[in-house]
Amino acid sequence: MRTVAGELERVLGAGGVLSGETAPYLSDATEGRGLRGRADAVALPASTEEVASVVAWCYEHDVPIVPRGGGTGFTAGAVPLAGGIVLSLERLNAVRAFDPLLWRICVEAGVRTADVRRLARENGLLFPPDPGAAEQSQIGGNIATNAGGPHAFKYGVTGAWVTGLEAVVPPGEVVAVGGPIRKDVAGYDLRGLLVGSEGTLGVITAAWLRLLPAPEAFLPVVAAYEGVTAGCAAIERVLGNGLQAAALEYLDAGALAAAGAAFPGGLPAGVRFLVVAEADGSAGEAARLRDELAAVLGEEALELVVPRTPAEVAELWRWRDGVSIAVSAQRGGKVSEDIVVPLDRLREAVEETVAIGDRHGLEACSWGHAGDGNLHATFLVDPRDEMELERAERAAGELFELAVRLEGSVSGEHGLGWVKRGRLALQWSPAGVELHARIKQAFDPKNLLNPGKKT
Ligand SMILES: Cc1cc2nc3c(=O)[nH]c(=O)nc-3n(C[C@H](O)[C@H](O)[C@H](O)COP(=O)(O)OP(=O)(O)OC[C@H]3O[C@@H](n4cnc5c(N)ncnc54)[C@H](O)[C@@H]3O)c2cc1C
Repeated sequence: MRTVAGELERVLGAGGVLSGETAPYLSDATEGRGLRGRADAVALPASTEEVASVVAWCYEHDVPIVPRGGGTGFTAGAVPLAGGIVLSLERLNAVRAFDPLLWRICVEAGVRTADVRRLARENGLLFPPDPGAAEQSQIGGNIATNAGGPHAFKYGVTGAWVTGLEAVVPPGEVVAVGGPIRKDVAGYDLRGLLVGSEGTLGVITAAWLRLLPAPEAFLPVVAAYEGVTAGCAAIERVLGNGLQAAALEYLDAGALAAAGAAFPGGLPAGVRFLVVAEADGSAGEAARLRDELAAVLGEEALELVVPRTPAEVAELWRWRDGVSIAVSAQRGGKVSEDIVVPLDRLREAVEETVAIGDRHGLEACSWGHAGDGNLHATFLVDPRDEMELERAERAAGELFELAVRLEGSVSGEHGLGWVKRGRLALQWSPAGVELHARIKQAFDPKNLLNPGKKT
């Protein structure tokens, strides 16, 4: 009898299939919380037609399919926890069309996020979504999770920049919705359904993306506070004063304990809350807004830091991108959840995260996209300590209840994946959850696309 890998080799050729034991395809950024899957094979199709052939073969033979982008997800979405095959999009990495003068690009799903951003930048344009692992994550993965990032505060999440999608849906059909057009209200919003669907409705193979003329200047300002009350009040003042920052980020005391030592130029003693805001626009507009942000943030700040040169600005954002890794490095692992709350509940959510950690005997901290009320509420763990991991999972359960109690959401940017399975019912009515399940059924009647995720 032939194995699944052997059968897929008939479809993709020998170079298009790896053994199901190929370790890098069995985990994602949740490895530090002990999650690792098992697969029958790893498929590496090189074209949309090959993706369609793999999906058709799996559908005919009742084999689960786990689509995989860069494997940077924080919810085990790309981890084959229910077996089946991993379908990696890495070989679909062509830029199909690029029209800089029309501010648009069409890329295959496996193109890396940073490459899209670089190509746009080299042509005077901006692709605004800036999730933190951009050098590894893929556009397909960003679309499948509807990824955010610091600049989502002004520019919105990835889905806001997707005007068209090509995807393979069960039982192996290619569908194209939208395209190089800026408006389309003809049918139900299938594009919108596929965005954020975490590989449970279809395999995204290509996308048309909208771009913007790049702002001339990006001018950040950093404000340090003695505590969460002063810091959150400053964040609310930014909105209250009508200042449209491009990014409005925060770190609490625990996150600063992990990452503060590497802050460019160092931080003054006694800092227990940090706000990073950025102004963008023409050089004049950005400078004016940066000064206004500095005035508003400076009211109760212990210190303001204003990076002046492009190198200093780049160094600041490199540091910010490294916060997640610095926090993980404290104990080797973390259980980190991307809850969202209304902005006026941010202070409570930051304080409660630490209190939940205390109740479970865990070090806790948070940082994240303050302007969007989006925390990375985190418990530090030693991934070898199973008891501690169990306590952290229970603590995460309390975080989700907290988010819902504060009228927020259990996920602002990472999705539900496997780690938040079943949590939608906390936040939606039974009728809403039922409709969600019926949409899944309509796309994937055999429940073979990423089973067990996004429920
Ligand atoms: C250091 C670090 C920083 C991060 N910062 C941010 C941040 O600021 N904002 C943010 O939103 N996220 C962030 N993330 C999380 C992660 O980078 C995002 O969720 C990202 O969008 C995942 O993309 P990926 O290509 O790695 O997808 P994967 O992890 O491979 O997959 C994620 C999900 O999408 C599905 N999928 C992947 N590709 C496809 C496809 N082509 N078709 C259908 N389904 C697909 C998978 O099945 C899975 O469910 C960060 C992660 C790390 C490690």
